[in-house]
Amino acid sequence: MRLSRYFLPVLKENPSEAQIVSHRLMLRAGMIKQASAGIYSWLPLGFKVLRKIENIVHEEQQRAGHIPMLMPTLQSADLWRESGRYDDYGEEMLRIKDRHGRDMLYGPTNEELITDIFRSHVGSYKDLPLTLYHIQWKFRDEIRPRFGVMRGREFFMKDGYNFDLTKEDALHAYNRHLVSYLRTYERMGLQAIPMRADGGPIGGDYTHEFLVLAETGESEVFYDSAVTDLTFGDRAIDYDSVDQCAAVLEEFTSKYARTDETHDEALFAEVPEARQRTARGIEVGQIFYFGTKYSEAMGAKVQGPDGKTVPVHMGSHGIGVSRLLGAIIEASHDDKGIIWPEGVTPFHAGIVNLKQGDEEADAACDALYASLKALGLDPLYDDRNERAGGKFATMDLLGLPWRITVGPRGLKNGVVELTSRRTGESEEMPPEAAVEKIAQIYAGIA
Ligand code: ATP
Ligand code: MG
Repeated sequence: MRLSRYFLPVLKENPSEAQIVSHRLMLRAGMIKQASAGIYSWLPLGFKVLRKIENIVHEEQQRAGHIPMLMPTLQSADLWRESGRYDDYGEEMLRIKDRHGRDMLYGPTNEELITDIFRSHVGSYKDLPLTLYHIQWKFRDEIRPRFGVMRGREFFMKDGYNFDLTKEDALHAYNRHLVSYLRTYERMGLQAIPMRADGGPIGGDYTHEFLVLAETGESEVFYDSAVTDLTFGDRAIDYDSVDQCAAVLEEFTSKYARTDETHDEALFAEVPEARQRTARGIEVGQIFYFGTKYSEAMGAKVQGPDGKTVPVHMGSHGIGVSRLLGAIIEASHDDKGIIWPEGVTPFHAGIVNLKQGDEEADAACDALYASLKALGLDPLYDDRNERAGGKFATMDLLGLPWRITVGPRGLKNGVVELTSRRTGESEEMPPEAAVEKIAQIYAGIA
C-alpha cells in the first residue's frame, strides 16, 4: 500500500478520552473511531490487524479439529426462556422488539442457539465428539465501557462449543482447547497464562481464564513466577491424544496461578516466597466445562451405545478477538508507539523515502515495493511529500516491525537501511539483501 493512497487518519495530539496506552495508540494510529459508547468503527489499519488475529484464531481452531460456522447476532428470546437465562442475564443483555412485537436480543453469547442447532440435527453418539465454533460480534451492555476495545459493548469474540457423550470425553475437549489457546496466543507474540477461575454457580475445577500480564489489566492475579517460564513453542501435538493434551494441561496449570475470584492465601503461601507474584492481568480468553446444564434444560440428548438416551456433556470456550488488539499493544509498545509482533502486524515492513521526488530514490523505493509484493509480502510505502522526521514518527507510531529507509546518500553507495522497530538497531545493506532478510523473517509466519 502506498501511504498517499491509503486512509490513515493519524492524530497528532493525544486524545483526552483515552486513559490507557493501547486505547490512546489505537486512536492516534487511526485504527478505530468511536461510534458511540463502547462501539467502534474499525478503520482500515485496525481492521487489518483484527483480520490477522481472527485468521490465527481460525487456523488454530481448525488445527485442533474444531469446525467453523456462523450464527446470527440477533437471537429470539424464546430459546433463552427455555434455558432460563432470559430473566437471569440482567441488564447486560440488549433486548429488542421486532415489528410484530416479538422479543429479540443481540446475542451476548451463544449457548442457547448452538444447543438448539445440536438438538435439531444430532441424535446419536456416533456423531460425537463434535466441536463447533464461530467468530461473531457480541453485545453486552456493559455498565462502564472503557479502555477502547478492551471493554466494549459491541465486541468480536470466538466462541466454541463441544458436545461429548461422557464427562471424560468433554474433559479431553477442554484440554484440547487449552492447548489450542496456548498456541493461538503465542502466535500473536503474547504470553497468556491459564489461571484457575471462578466457575460461577456451576463451580468445580473446570474453568480457566487466560491472562496477559499488564499493569492496566482489570483482574488482580496471584501466581508462582515459574509459570512465566513456560512456553508451548513449536512442539508437535496430536490433538486426538488424550494423554498428550492432558499432559499439557498438567504442565501449564499445576503451578499456582489464580485470579482474585479463586485466590487462596493458604495455598499461595506454599509457593516459595521469592516466586510469589501479585500483579494485574487482561483476560483474553476463558474455557469452560459445564456438563449437562444446557443440554438438560433444552433437551439436547443422544442415544448412547447401550441404546439409552442421555443428555450430552458440553463446554464453551471464548477468545476476545477484538480485546486482543488492546492486549497486544499493552504488552508491546514504547513511548513512540506500537511495536507489532510479526504474527499480527498490519504491514510486514515500512518503506520510507527520505527524498520524495528524487528520481533515484523514487525508483529504488518502487523497486523495493515491487520485490516485496512479488514475494507475497505486504509493505507500506510512505511516498508522501513530507519531512523525514515526520515520516519516521509516523512509522514508529504505527509500529511495523521493520523499516527500510531509502535516501540519495545511501543509494550512492548502493545501500539502504534496515531498522528493527523493537531494538531500534539499523543495518546498511544493498536493497536486495534487505528484501531477502525480511522474506526470511516472515517465512513460516506470514
Ligand atoms: P470480563 O470478565 O472481562 O467481563 P467475561 O468473563 O464476562 O469477561 P467471557 O464470557 O468469558 O467474558 O467471554 C470470552 C472473552 O471475551 C473474554 O475472555 C474476553 O477476552 C472477551 N470479552 C468479554 N467481555 C468483553 C467486552 N466487554 N469487550 C471486549 N472483550 C470482551
Ligand atoms: Mg470470562
